[in-house]
Amino acid sequence: MSKASIAAPSEQEFQSSSVFDELGMERDPNNLYLQIIDAVLQAADILELPHHLKLILAQPKNEIMVHFPVQMNDGNYRLIKGYRVQHNNVLGPYKGGIRFHQDVHLDDVKALSALMTMKCSLVRVPFGGGKGGVKINPRELAQDELMRVSRRFITAIAQQIGPDTDIPAPDVGTNSQIMAWFADTYMNIAGGTARHDAARVVTGKPVEMGGSLGREKATGQGLVDVVAEILPNMGMPLEGLKFSVLGFGNVGSWAGKLLQERGAKMVAVMDHTGALRNDEGIDCALLAEHCAETGGIAGFNRAHCATGSGANTNAGAEVITEEEFYKTPVDLFVPAALEQMITAENADWIDAKVIAEGANAPTTPMGERRLLANGVEILPAILCNAGGVTVSYFEWVQNKSAHPWDLEKVDEELNRHMVLAARRTQLAKHRYECDLRTAAYIAALEHIGKVYGHRGIFP
Ligand code: NAD
Repeated sequence: MSKASIAAPSEQEFQSSSVFDELGMERDPNNLYLQIIDAVLQAADILELPHHLKLILAQPKNEIMVHFPVQMNDGNYRLIKGYRVQHNNVLGPYKGGIRFHQDVHLDDVKALSALMTMKCSLVRVPFGGGKGGVKINPRELAQDELMRVSRRFITAIAQQIGPDTDIPAPDVGTNSQIMAWFADTYMNIAGGTARHDAARVVTGKPVEMGGSLGREKATGQGLVDVVAEILPNMGMPLEGLKFSVLGFGNVGSWAGKLLQERGAKMVAVMDHTGALRNDEGIDCALLAEHCAETGGIAGFNRAHCATGSGANTNAGAEVITEEEFYKTPVDLFVPAALEQMITAENADWIDAKVIAEGANAPTTPMGERRLLANGVEILPAILCNAGGVTVSYFEWVQNKSAHPWDLEKVDEELNRHMVLAARRTQLAKHRYECDLRTAAYIAALEHIGKVYGHRGIFP
């Protein structure tokens, strides 16, 4: 079989141009949605998926856009824009996070919803793909303003979501408190006897109101499960492994803490407040505490470094530039911030053997092309960050059965799902002689294709 791998779209055209033409889709090579669909369709070509399934997967089923007014604490009203995109539900209810961010756009939400379809299929949880976003900067809002925004958004999309229809979860800028407000709002709307079961409409809730133990760390933990499954076979045991993390929020900090527990050492880290390096290791647990207190890694004190003497109160490890961060030599680089941060411009700076994508779509197609040319192995996002949706599924199952699991069971089941997904991906890579991202899409599409094959297209 000839070597198959996904090429980045050129300025002129995408690889899957016939489907794009048939659906009248635009050809903007910088559009994240088109980039992702193009990559999925190339994997579908390799798998020889029926043409009508490519058409179905190339567009989301529903794109919901809402505008709602919220009164701010200064007495003024703001009109806020929100999105919920439901990409595909052949495997089960739509599932995916809701992001609060000032730069949220429809095409980004569409892109993330398509990734959710692929991700749920790859880890074999019975959910389809969805995603949502609200165009606000949560850091600028007071708690009560944030609560009103959360409640109004869920009210605006309440007819389109539901515990067996579409199940939101946290993403960038949202957390378990916001999930609690989402759930409470929806429970009040549902009312009557459906009221308590209605809490299943959201996952990532606080444990006290039905959230799963282990959900908060799940995405980082799933990434570590994948890395622990794949890297030792590449001659890289976790003990002594040097890694760097881009974005030290939920995913980045948990991945860092759990890698550190396994004997690996974080030598560089960057977030929106700056970048730090310490070749002796930066203590991820202490840095996470510092971030919780201050909102970012800036100002982390040298006394907190793994081998820091404490005498130098100058800075938390050495403060470095963005370029120096990318150029820090590591075995493993973990992007865990936002989309599209590894580009053609900075990909050549990355001095790593392996990239484990914690963030969704952190690598542009042109960035990916350069990394692959440089011999960097990329463990794709739909594999590495699927731990979050997997434990969300466990939460939904626990709510449905009214029987909470202990943490050991959550950890064990998560590990099983992640290891099997990693093996599925590696198997597809060997079978189709392609890169791991293509392989992960193939492994996901194989399952979706079989389900469509059994169900057929209604009527
Ligand atoms: P978060 O808000 O907790 O953390 C985001 C981090 O990115 C922060 O440390 C922030 O400082 C950093 N960041 C933002 N802009 C940056 C910039 N310009 N330069 C450097 N750093 C920057 O978000 P999260 O939940 O950890 O999500 C991170 C990524 O993982 C997103 O792509 C998200 O979609 C994806 N993801 C999250 C989950 C989950 O369970 N939280 C699950 C799957 C995928």
